[in-house]
Amino acid sequence: MKVLIINSGSSSLKFQLLDFAANVVMMQGLCERIGIDNSRIQFQRFDEERIRHNRDFVDHEDAVKAMVEVLTSPQYGVIEDLNEIKAIGHRVVHGGEQFAEPVIVSEEVKASIREAFLWGPLHNPANLLGIEVCERLMAGIPQVAVFDTAFHQTMPREAYLYALPYNLYEEHGIRRYGFHGTSHKYVSERAADICGIPLEQSRIIVCHLGNGSSLCAVKNGKSVDTTMGLTPLAGLPMGTRCGDVDPAIPAFIAGVEDCSLQEIDNMMNKRSGVLGISGISSDFRDLAAAAEKGHARAKLALDVFRYSLKKYIGAYAAVLGGVDILVFTAGIGENDDDLRRQLCDELGYLGIELDEYHNCGLRGEEKIISTKKSKVKVVVVPTNEELSIAQQTVSLLGFKDE
Ligand code: ADP
Repeated sequence: MKVLIINSGSSSLKFQLLDFAANVVMMQGLCERIGIDNSRIQFQRFDEERIRHNRDFVDHEDAVKAMVEVLTSPQYGVIEDLNEIKAIGHRVVHGGEQFAEPVIVSEEVKASIREAFLWGPLHNPANLLGIEVCERLMAGIPQVAVFDTAFHQTMPREAYLYALPYNLYEEHGIRRYGFHGTSHKYVSERAADICGIPLEQSRIIVCHLGNGSSLCAVKNGKSVDTTMGLTPLAGLPMGTRCGDVDPAIPAFIAGVEDCSLQEIDNMMNKRSGVLGISGISSDFRDLAAAAEKGHARAKLALDVFRYSLKKYIGAYAAVLGGVDILVFTAGIGENDDDLRRQLCDELGYLGIELDEYHNCGLRGEEKIISTKKSKVKVVVVPTNEELSIAQQTVSLLGFKDE
C-alpha cells in the first residue's frame, strides 16, 4: 500500500512516498524556495542519487504539481497513476486542545486547524495550505492530519498549566502544548520494543536533540510532561533558541536595549541558544571542533546545553518515579557519542552505566548502548516522523497491511 506524507512549510514542501507494507521509501523530495527566486525541486528514488531541477514555484499549488509530475514521470517516477496512492498523511504542527489523535480531514477539521493559527502562526497556515492544495489536485484520496502536539494531550493539568491568571488559559488557550510529539511517540514505542519492556508498564525519557530540542517524560506509553511550551521556544537551549529564561527578561531587555517585543522575540528565536553563547555557530559539530581547539565560549555553550539536559532528566526521573529507558534521537542525539558519554557519566547516580564499546562511533543506528548491569537502559533510536505519520494514517483509516 502506497502512502504519501506531506510536510508543508511556509516556503518549502517535503514529501515522501512510502510502500507501507514493505517499509520502503519509494521516493522522497523537497520543493524549496516556494514564492522566492531560484526555487527548485530535489528528489531521490529508493536509494538512488539525488536529482535536482530548478523550477519556478509561484505558490504551493505549483510545488504540489511539480511533486505529482515527478512521482508519475515516465523517466523518474515510481508510480504510473495517482490512484495508486491510498492515503495522504499531513504533518500539522499545532492542534491546540482539539486534537489528541490524528483525524481524517474534513471542513470542521480545517476550521479547527485555522483556529490554531493563533498558537502556531509560523506553521499552521502553511500546513493547511498543503492540505487544501492536495485536496484540489489529488481529489478522492483520503487525507489525514497528524499533529505534533497531539501526543502531549495526555499531560496532566499540573504539568501543562502555567501559573498565570486562569482566564488567560480559558480565554486564549495559554498553556503548555509541547511539540515533536510524533517523534516522541515513535521513538518511545521503538525503544520499549528494542528493550523488551512492555510500553504500558514503562518509564521512558526521550531526548529529541536536533536544531530544535525537547525532552519528553513518557509513562506507560503516554506523554506526562515535555520541555517545550505554548511555543517551541521553551525548555532546553537549542541551536538558535534560548529555551527557558527568566520571564521578566524580555521587559528588561526592552528597557536597556530600546527594542520592540517583536525584535526581542526574533532574537530569542534566531540569535540565542548555543549560537548566542558561542558567537560562532548553531551546529554542534562546529562547536565541538572549536571547543577542541580551545574556543572557550564554544565549550561553554556545549556545557550549558549538557547541564540543562542533565537538569531536565533529573526532573523527569522525579516526575516518572524512576527511569527504565533513556532514549537519544535526532541529529545530535543520534550522532554525538561524546555528549552521550559525558551525560551518562554524570547520570551515574541513577544507575546508568554506558557501554562505551557500543556507544563509541555509533551514528544514526538503533542500538542499546548501556551495559547489561545498567539499571536504566540507554538506547539510540533514529527518529522517523514520516513513518510514524504513515503508521497513524493507515491505522486511522483502518487499512490492512498489503
Ligand atoms: P532538525 O531539528 O532541523 O530536524 P536535526 O535533527 O537534523 O535537526 O539535527 C541537526 C543537528 O544535529 C545540528 O545541530 C548538527 O550539528 C547535529 N549533528 C549532526 N551530526 C552530528 C554529529 N556527528 N555530532 C554532533 N552533532 C551532530
